Formats: sequence, C-alpha cells, structure tokens
Amino acid sequence: MSEQHYILVINCGSSSLKFSIVNPENEESVLSGLAECLLLPEAKISWKYQGEKQQTALPQKANHTDALQFITEQILTHFPELKQQIKAIGHRITHGGEKYSQPTILTPSVLDDLSALAELAPLHNPANVTGVKAAQVAFPHLKEKNVGVFDTGFHATLPPQAYLYALPISYYEKYGIRRYGFHGISHYYIAYKTAEYLDKRLEDLNMISCHLGNGASITAIKNGQSIDTSMGFTPCEGLVMGTRSGDVDPALLIYLKQKLNLSTQETSDLINKQSGLLGLTNGSSSDFRYITENYAKDKYCQIALDVYIHRLVKYIGSYAVLLDNKLDAIVFTGGIGENSELVRRLVLEKLTILGFELDQERNLAARFGQNGKITSDQSQHSAYVIPTNEELVIAKYTASFI
Ligand code: ADP
Repeated sequence: MSEQHYILVINCGSSSLKFSIVNPENEESVLSGLAECLLLPEAKISWKYQGEKQQTALPQKANHTDALQFITEQILTHFPELKQQIKAIGHRITHGGEKYSQPTILTPSVLDDLSALAELAPLHNPANVTGVKAAQVAFPHLKEKNVGVFDTGFHATLPPQAYLYALPISYYEKYGIRRYGFHGISHYYIAYKTAEYLDKRLEDLNMISCHLGNGASITAIKNGQSIDTSMGFTPCEGLVMGTRSGDVDPALLIYLKQKLNLSTQETSDLINKQSGLLGLTNGSSSDFRYITENYAKDKYCQIALDVYIHRLVKYIGSYAVLLDNKLDAIVFTGGIGENSELVRRLVLEKLTILGFELDQERNLAARFGQNGKITSDQSQHSAYVIPTNEELVIAKYTASFI
C-alpha cells in the first residue's frame, strides 16, 4: 500500500458524530460512519468500509469522546495502515462569526473564541467544540493538526444590504445581530462543481444553489461569491424545512408567547422542532418521502407541499433578480434536491417566466444521485442536480494545511 495522506472529517451534532476518512487526492471516502443517540441509553454507532455496513451499540450514555475512542480503538485497529495514514482532522464548525471565515487551525485560543460564539449558535457550536476536544484526546499526535471549516464562511461576502436586519443598527454593532447564513460548505461545493461542469471560472459564475435537506437554504451566487442566502442569524430563517418554520412574521412569536404563555424554550422548540413539514402535516412527519407518498390523498401533505414549493419559488424569483439577468444555472442538492423529481418539476414549472423549460425525462433520470441537467436544450437557462459533498470540501481544505 503506497503512503497516503488521509483526512479524518468530523461533523458533530449535540447527540451525534458523523465521521469520514477521506483521501483528498482521489476524492474517495474510504471509511465513513455515524455515532448517534450519544448521551442516551441507546447510544450506537454504524460504519461502512468498502460497501460493507456494520452497526453496534455503544456503552450506555456514551459521549463524543467515547465514540471517537471506539473509532480509534475498535474500528481502526482492524485497519492499522489506514489509521497511521490519517495526517490531519477536519471539523465542520457551524458558526465562525465575523472573525472566522477561512479554514483555521484549531488552537486553544481559537477554541475559546468558538466557545464564546456559542451565544450565537447555542444548538451547534458547543457540540462542535466538544468534537474537537474529543478528537484531540483520541488522536494526541495530531493535536496541532485539527482544522475548522466554517459553515458560515462562504457567506462572508454578503453585502451589508443583505446581511443587515432593519433593527436598530446598534444591535449589529454591539451584539453582532445580523444575517450570517449557513450551509456555506455545501453551497461552495455546488458553486465549484457547477463552474467545473459549465467549464467556467468560478469568478465568472452566476447561479442559484438550492440545498434542500432536513435543513434547507438557498444562495444567490454572483461572480462566484455568495451575495444573499435564506438562513439568517440562525438556521431557522428562510425556506420551509423538516421541523423548522423558516420565515414567519417576528411579531407572531410575541403574540403566541403571550397567548399560549410559552416559555423561551417552548417558543424555540415551536419554531425549530415542531414546525416546517412536521407542523404543516399536523405532526405526521418531517420526512419529505412521507409528503411525496401521501400528498394526493392527505390534505395536510398537499398543504405542506404547496407551502414548501411556494416559498422556494418566491426565493428563486427574488434571487434571479439579484443576479442582474446573468443566471447560468439553478442547482438542486441535499436529500430532497437530489432525490425528489416532484419538487424539481413543480419548481421548474413555475419558472417558465424566467426562461426555464423542464425536460421531464432528464428530471426522472437524475433521480439516483447522478449529476445531471434537467432542463431542455432549448431552455434559456439551465437547471442541474448535483449531489453535495461537504466532507470532501473539509478534507481538501484540511489537507492544504499539511
Ligand atoms: P440532512 O439535512 O439531515 O443532511 P438530507 O440532506 O439527508 O438531510 O435530506 C433529508 C431529506 O431528504 C428528508 O426529508 C428525506 O425525506 C428526503 N429524501 C430522501 N430521499 C428522498 C426521495 N427519494 N424523495 C423525496 N425526498 C427524499
């Protein structure tokens, strides 16, 4: 086996840890997996090596450090050469604030800054920092080779008119209240791949990237840079998501808080955990497959689908205007964007006014995670499906440090 420089990519949530060992040269993920239900009695871990999947329970209430220890001591002992060839660790960090937009070595002082930013991203940054510390314990010889790649980073180019809320300006100046945008690693990958696909330089690319997964966001990219995006101060703003409401009238929350006597936590749970597709289907499901299977026979699923498409089309229309009529492409990605011919069809049928003409055969063929054009050859503008690959972006950035 020739000497390789593998990167371990880690993406930590509050109760989960996704990992992938990536070869940034040939862009292959050699081994990947997910530890979930961490800190709960049913903690478990699954992983895939060369197409073969395995799963096992972790000790009850295992934490992130336990999960990483299992990866190094149980899984990787079977692949000693692979373990030895991990040269650095790349972490997905949700919030870099205004200070961190570029990939950064996670020194103790950077970690202190990121912990302080937990005030802006209480659901995400503490888990990310926990993941970094756990990785430093599990791979002590790589302690100085932990690199953070920020989900807010790609949106650092938003102009003030896009990132400012019309609140007293002192709130921005004193407390950093502004729109930051998220899913930046995915939107960057999609822009990079689209430029490659269209044989254009990234700096010349004008496009709209639709990342539609459980979380969903859309980004207007002008001359290769993010100029507007639908998520804001938190990942709750914008599109309809699995359990997040996306845009609502802000005064509505004050009304509901008073009327239903909701606590701050209950109000947060309402818009983050009980809304979106889950809320519109009257609590039936946050999963888009459920909507797809039932919209013809269930009025709530039909409503959820209608609101979902309406919001998405509205954003695409307004972002097309921001691109000064230089739209090279719309790209769909994420679990829904890559797999739902229904969503792509309904969206593109509404966009004939912008010069899009759907090719339904191509749309159906693009269903199985294949890159592909889904508009006709006569269409004035093109739409594509491109599977996202955030791990690869993190691995490549991390490799650039070693
Ligand atoms: P996450 O944001 O958690 O990474 P994903 O990008 O994996 O989420 O997307 C999950 C969403 O993709 C779910 O709503 C799921 O129902 C949807 N999805 C996956 N496959 C299909 C499919 N074949 N048709 C419609 N929706 C799908």
